[in-house]
Amino acid sequence: MNLGELAYPDVPEDAVHLLPLGATEPHGPHAPLSTDTVISVGICERAAARLAGEIPVLVLPALPYGVTRYGSAFAGTVSISEETLGSLATEIAASVGTLVLVNSHFEPEQVETLRATGLPLLDLTRRRNAERLTEEFRSGSCHAGRYETSLVLADEPQLVHADRMHELEERHVDMPAAIRAGRTDFLAMGMDEAYCGAPAESSAEEGRETFETLTQMLVELIREVAA
Ligand SMILES: [Zn+2]
Repeated sequence: MNLGELAYPDVPEDAVHLLPLGATEPHGPHAPLSTDTVISVGICERAAARLAGEIPVLVLPALPYGVTRYGSAFAGTVSISEETLGSLATEIAASVGTLVLVNSHFEPEQVETLRATGLPLLDLTRRRNAERLTEEFRSGSCHAGRYETSLVLADEPQLVHADRMHELEERHVDMPAAIRAGRTDFLAMGMDEAYCGAPAESSAEEGRETFETLTQMLVELIREVAA
C-alpha cells in the first residue's frame, strides 16, 4: 500500500492515491520537527489498510515540507512557498490520476493553497470535521499540545522527549484569534517554546483514539472520491 515500496509490475491500476502532507517545523521542545508528517502518514496508512479488499488505495511518499513561516524564528524550520506547494500537489495529481490530499499542517496559507488546487482534501479545519476531534483541537490552542503529541506517541513514541513533555505547563493560545489579529509567528503569539495547549496531558491511548476518528473521516472521503 506504500507506493514507494512496490516494484512497478505490482502497482494496481485505478488506485486512489493518498498524499500525506506535513511540515518541518518546531513542535515544542519535546516533539519532533516531523510531527505533522508523522500524523498524516499515520492517517493514510490506517485508511489504506481499512479499505483493503474494497478500494485499491496507495500511499505516496510523504511531502515533509509545507508553507511554514510561523516557526521561522526556531532552528530546524524548512519552508516552501505557496507556489511550490500548489505546483507539487497539482503535478503529482497529474502523474497518478486520482489523488487525495491529507494535510496535518494548518498554517492558513498552507490550507488555502491546498484548497485552491481543487483536489480532494482531508481538511480538518472545516467545521464538520473539527467538530469530531478533541476538545483541545477545537479550542484552537493546539500546536504541539495534547492533540498532536498524543498522535506522535501512538506511532513514533521514540521521537517524543517524555521528560521534557511532562514538565511543560499548559499554555492557552487561541491561534485562530491571534492570526486574525495579525500575529503570524509563534513568538508574537506568545509561544516562546513553539507550543500551546497541554502537551503534558498527552497519551498514546488518546492518540490511537484520535487516529481512529481521523481514519474514519479519510475513509469516508476516499469512498466519495472512488464512487
Ligand atoms: Zn503540527
